[in-house]
Amino acid sequence: MKYEPVIGLEIHAELATATKMFCSCRLVDTTQAAPNTTVCPVCAGMPGTLPVVNRKAVEYGIKVALALDCEVQHSSIFARKNYFYPDLPKGYQISQYEYPLATHGKLVVDTPKGEHTIHVTRVHLEEDTGKLTHIHNGKEDYSLVDLNRAGVPLLEIVSEPDMHSIEDVRGYSTGLRAIVRELGVNSGDMEKGVIRFEANVSLRPAGSSVLGTRVEIKNLNSFRAMERAILFEIERQTRLLESGKPVQQETLGWDEPNQTTYSQRSKEEAHDYRYFPEPDLPPLVVEPEWVEQIRASLPELPRAKALRFRNTFGLSPVEAGILVSEREIANYFEDVVSHLKTVTPRTAAVWLTGEIFAWMNQTNTPCDQIKITPKQFADLLEEVQSGKINQNTGKAVLSQMLETGESAARIISDRGLVQVSDTAFIANLVSQVLSEHPAELNSYKTGKLTLANWFFGQVMKAAGGKANPAVLRRELEKQLKHSLE
Ligand code: ADP
Ligand code: MG
Ligand code: ZN
Repeated sequence: MKYEPVIGLEIHAELATATKMFCSCRLVDTTQAAPNTTVCPVCAGMPGTLPVVNRKAVEYGIKVALALDCEVQHSSIFARKNYFYPDLPKGYQISQYEYPLATHGKLVVDTPKGEHTIHVTRVHLEEDTGKLTHIHNGKEDYSLVDLNRAGVPLLEIVSEPDMHSIEDVRGYSTGLRAIVRELGVNSGDMEKGVIRFEANVSLRPAGSSVLGTRVEIKNLNSFRAMERAILFEIERQTRLLESGKPVQQETLGWDEPNQTTYSQRSKEEAHDYRYFPEPDLPPLVVEPEWVEQIRASLPELPRAKALRFRNTFGLSPVEAGILVSEREIANYFEDVVSHLKTVTPRTAAVWLTGEIFAWMNQTNTPCDQIKITPKQFADLLEEVQSGKINQNTGKAVLSQMLETGESAARIISDRGLVQVSDTAFIANLVSQVLSEHPAELNSYKTGKLTLANWFFGQVMKAAGGKANPAVLRRELEKQLKHSLE
C-alpha cells in the first residue's frame, strides 16, 4: 500500500517590538546580552504584579494575520496555560486558547508541483519562556536560568494538516518567514531562535481522507532540522504501518547529533494545562477601524512581488522566490533593473543570485553593505552585454568591484581587460597553440575529440582571458576541422 504524509505546522515567531508582551522590559538579543539583565517583577513572575498588553505586539500580530488572509476577531481572550517549568517563573504562560486573535487564513505557496494552498487555522498571541542552559560535566550537574526571553511577545501560527510533502513544508515555512520579514515584525534570524517550529506528522493510505494517528515533534529551530525530522518520521511511520504495527500518538524531540526523533511523552502522559481565562487581563478588543488601517498599510507581500517579478521581468518561480525572500535584495534588484538598457532583468537576476550571493556568503556580508550601487552593477552587465568584456572577465571585474567599490569602466581600463574580437588576431593565436601542442593535436585527430575544450582553454589563456569566446570557438573549430582533412 502507498501512504500519503499529512503534515501540520505550528510556528512560533517572536515579535520584534521594543518591549515585552506584558511589561516594559526592553527586548535584547538574547544570544548576546548578559543573562537576567532585562527582567522586572512582572516577567519574573512576582506575586502581586499585573500584566499590561503591549499594543505594538497586537498590531504586529494583526499585520501577520491579515497577510495570511485571516479573519481578525473583534474580541479575543488571554488564557492561562498552567504548567511548572524552571524557565516559566509564573508557573503558567499567558496565551490565547479558545478565542484566538485571528482564524481561517491561508497561504498560497509555489512548489515544484505547482501552486498549493495551505490553510491557517489560527494566529494567536502569547509570551515566550526564559532560557535554560544545562551544565553536565564530571563534577557538576545543574541548570542556569536566563529570564531575558521570558515575556517576549510570541505569535503562534497554526496550520491545517494541509501539507503532504517536504516541498509543501518548505514552501509554507519559508513563505511565512518571508512574510514576517517583509512586514518588519521579525528578523528571520533562525540562528537566534526567533522562529521555531513544531511539526505534526501522520500517514494515511493514499487517496484516503481520514487522518491517521499523528506525532508532534517539538522545538525544531531550523528549516534543516525540521525537514530532516519530518522525513525521518515519514520513514519510521511507513515502516511501522507496513509491518502492521500502529503509530503511537506521542510528543517527540529531535536528536540532532543522531538525526533521529525520540519519545518525550506519550498520549497518556499528555499535559493537562488546565486552561482558564486570565483574570488579570480584560478581553482583547480590536476595533475594525484599526484593523482596516493596518490592512491599508500592508506592503506588497512576498508572493505578490514574486508573481510581479515573474510576469514583468520573465523570471522563473525559483529566481523570483529567492529575490523576494529579503526585502533589501528585492529592492536592490528592482533598482538594478531600472538602470538596465539592453540587458534583460533575467540576466541581472542570474548574476545577482549567482555571483553576488556567492560573494555575500563567502564574505558574510549582508545585502545592505554591498559596496557597489545598483547603477554600477547595471553598468557592468551592459559592458558584458555589449561584448566589451567577456563573461568570465565580467565575473572577475565584478569581484573586484565588490572588494573595492570601483566602477566596471575604471577596472576594465586600468587592467586593460577589453575583450578581443579581432578574428585575424584570434585565428593567429589558435594556429600558434595548435602548432605548440603536436601531441595533443595528434590525439585529437585519432579520435579524442574532447581535447577541443582543452585547446579552447589554452587559446583563452594565451589571450589573457580576453578573447571573445564565440569568435574563439568558431576559429578553433575551423582549424581543427581543417586538421582532420
Ligand atoms: P495540539 O494543541 O495538541 O498541538 P492542535 O489541534 O492544535 O493540537 O493541532 C496542532 C497541529 O497538528 C495543527 O497544525 C494541525 O494541523 C496538526 N494536525 C492535527 N491532526 C493531524 C494529523 N492527523 N496529522 C498531521 N497533522 C495533524
Ligand atoms: Mg501542538
Ligand atoms: Zn519585565
